[in-house]
Amino acid sequence: MDTKRQGQDIGALTSGAMTGPWEWVQKKIPAGTQVFDAHTHVGVDIDGRRMTAAGMKERMDAANVYTSIIFPLNDPNARDDYSGPNDVVWAAHEEYQGAFVPFFRLNPHKDYEAEFELDDTRVARLFEMAAAVDLPVLVHTGFAMERIVEPLLPTVERLPELRLILGHAAMVELLAATRAFSDYPNVLFETSVVKAKDLYVLFCSMDPARICYGSDIPYGDLPSTLHATLLAADAAGLSEKELSGVLSGNIRRWFP
Ligand SMILES: [Zn+2]
Repeated sequence: MDTKRQGQDIGALTSGAMTGPWEWVQKKIPAGTQVFDAHTHVGVDIDGRRMTAAGMKERMDAANVYTSIIFPLNDPNARDDYSGPNDVVWAAHEEYQGAFVPFFRLNPHKDYEAEFELDDTRVARLFEMAAAVDLPVLVHTGFAMERIVEPLLPTVERLPELRLILGHAAMVELLAATRAFSDYPNVLFETSVVKAKDLYVLFCSMDPARICYGSDIPYGDLPSTLHATLLAADAAGLSEKELSGVLSGNIRRWFP
């Protein structure tokens, strides 16, 4: 998909039938909030999805999103250590200074095909190394992950200083995660791909200061995910200040 086409996509998502919802989103974003997207991808996926840095930046500009965390997809060119796709992410960060926060994808077994769980000793070691140098970690939870809370809890207990983003808010284990990690302020719940009902439950059951907005571009888009997040937060009764935190401040304090 070329850049021009991506620009047109943003137009289609904020006009026609989407004009009303998009105007509501614009009104609902508290004044002065510099929206921060905590979950997007730049690169290529084995399922054919792709996103360029230029396409990402164009979408952000069109939707008034200031900063995005970017990291690789499940890239067919990854080979064993993900250095190729990680280099693409780093190049995007260098080309668009200030727009992107680059995260790198790691395989603790240095083997693209190797599957691993969150309590794998090498994964636990990676968490320790990240905590030691104060690097945040995003756990890309999804439908393919069957165990999240139970294997992750010992690490969170052992490394309370580790800054952890639960991508997709731990997905299928969302409720268990809100209970297990409620006392660990360095664990943030990111909202992309979470079902409307679960998003509402998240906003009702978790301190809003622990929730951050994400789009999961190229799987999600900015207008729809902003709309879904704000609808659920609004229904749960969040204040303007709390909404601003979800859209920006809660994650931005990690990347000033
Ligand atoms: Zn993702």
